[in-house]
Amino acid sequence: GTISRHFSSTVINMAPISKETDFLVIGGGSGGLGAARAAASRYGAKAMVIEGKRLGGTCVNVGCVPKKVTFNAAFIAETIHQAKAYGFNVQETAPFDWPTFKTKRDAYIKRLNGIYERNLANDKVEYIHGWAKLLSKNSVEVTLDDGSKEVVNAKKILIAVGGNPHVPPEIPGSELGINSDGFFDIDKLPKKVALVGAGYIAVEFAGMFNALGVETHLFIRYDTFLRSFDPMIQEKVTAEYERLGIHVHKRSLTNKVEKDEKTGKLRLHYNSSKGEGSNGEGVLEDVDHLIWAIGRTPAIEGLGLEAAGVKTTEKGHIVVDEYQNTNVENVYALGDVTGHVELTPVAIAAGRKLAARLFGPEQFRTSKLDYDNIPSVVFSHPEVGSIGLTEPQAVEKYGAENLKIYKTNFTAMYYAMMEPEEKAPTSYKLICAGPEEKVVGLHIMGLGSGEMLQGFGVAVKMGATKADFDSCVAIHPTSAEELVTLR
Ligand code: FAD
Ligand code: NDP
Repeated sequence: GTISRHFSSTVINMAPISKETDFLVIGGGSGGLGAARAAASRYGAKAMVIEGKRLGGTCVNVGCVPKKVTFNAAFIAETIHQAKAYGFNVQETAPFDWPTFKTKRDAYIKRLNGIYERNLANDKVEYIHGWAKLLSKNSVEVTLDDGSKEVVNAKKILIAVGGNPHVPPEIPGSELGINSDGFFDIDKLPKKVALVGAGYIAVEFAGMFNALGVETHLFIRYDTFLRSFDPMIQEKVTAEYERLGIHVHKRSLTNKVEKDEKTGKLRLHYNSSKGEGSNGEGVLEDVDHLIWAIGRTPAIEGLGLEAAGVKTTEKGHIVVDEYQNTNVENVYALGDVTGHVELTPVAIAAGRKLAARLFGPEQFRTSKLDYDNIPSVVFSHPEVGSIGLTEPQAVEKYGAENLKIYKTNFTAMYYAMMEPEEKAPTSYKLICAGPEEKVVGLHIMGLGSGEMLQGFGVAVKMGATKADFDSCVAIHPTSAEELVTLR
């Protein structure tokens, strides 16, 4: 809908498209662009990118970027509220003009699309707007915007098609809800929203809505969310969300969605089983938006994987080895479509490594991305940062007797001027293994964690020990200093 309309006014594909290329990349998202640009600009390969929607992919258009901009708006809303505690005479609820905000956010993304297109041109990557389908292991059919079809033969093909948000077809009325793509189309501030899911997206969206003053309901299947994170993170962030007034419906499964024809609002039927004796059916009325955030499905429909003989898992993720090789020679895949670590910098890094291996000098022949110790941040309230093993993973790998766990809980100095109910918690955990106390897991939650993690990530990636952490003199007064003074 909106996406193709953006393009109908733009003249693309003016030059006839090449019929042969060295490196054909399907998908102009994080991974595809990273690979194609590196192949062409660094190693002089003849590369082509085919993108059906908007350049930049999920991250730029309906992911990281507009999400972080919205997170910043939520952060400002919180700051305005907190300013009072510092003696500023601000209005308790500063009016937030969502339509103005959205228009500006959309314009920013559009500018980025243009920048991405110019970057491709500067790097001499041929860019084709259209949908690609494999005809064989070295030929691809492209359906152009005008409906015409062209066939391109390629020496090597990279599949970097990403994924799409999953909506559960088995739940009656599920189509009345939206997903993370639809979140970015919301054009006025809702009154009441419901989110289903317990991962990054559900938690980030719920936190932002709540901070912007929206009545927020989060439906999760278990007692905590972010269950792939360290238990400390799961428990503390879930508790903090409840403290902030987010309605966390634990052990709750949605079973039907209806639309109230009079009001146009949604009605959610759900079942909660909060332990013995409290099983019950519940109904949530007057919901402006229901957002499914229950994971993503690889975008392999109509891609012609069978024609090329490319293997997928049961869930449709393309099977690759550690070098991003598929089972078919000269066909590669990376990023979300492989279902490994679904993060933008992971897709970009894997893309650049692959380009180096395929088109770079001899020394890069065994170049590949190391998937260990990848840092990631959840832009929740407060932010979460994590690298390395969770405590249960570390126990499994090293044995509890070979671990030393350092923990601290405190209140950041920023909150010193505030009333108790305004104070968000901070919790840090360091997991150290062996007699040398190598840091194998670092988990932080609290103000500024998002910016704090990258530097500590470098240390962990280098194999830092607890003694290395302690040898770095603290920076005072910060929250981060607690990580180099743990006892
Ligand atoms: P994508 O970026 O999805 O790109 C794939 C592209 O391929 C798409 O543009 C698609 O249109 C195109 N395509 C698909 N099929 C075809 C075809 N047949 N022909 C032509 N083109 C095709 N990651 C972070 O690191 N930090 C974050 O803060 C973060 N926030 C996120 C927030 C949200 C709401 C979401 C949904 C994701 C977020 N992510 C974040 C994850 C990140 O966006 C993805 O991991 C990343 O975009 C994956 O890159 P990719 O190249 O594999 O796929
Ligand atoms: P995730 O896979 O992270 O989380 C989805 C979660 O929803 C599951 O883990 C599961 O948790 C729960 N769930 C699954 N099925 C159902 C169901 N039928 N009903 C209710 N709950 C269900 O997916 P997201 O959609 O949140 O995000 C996709 C990926 O995008 C992330 O994994 C991440 O890699 C990336 N991303 C990164 C961000 C960042 O870096 N800050 C931000 C946003 C996305 P449980 O088992 O506990 O029920």
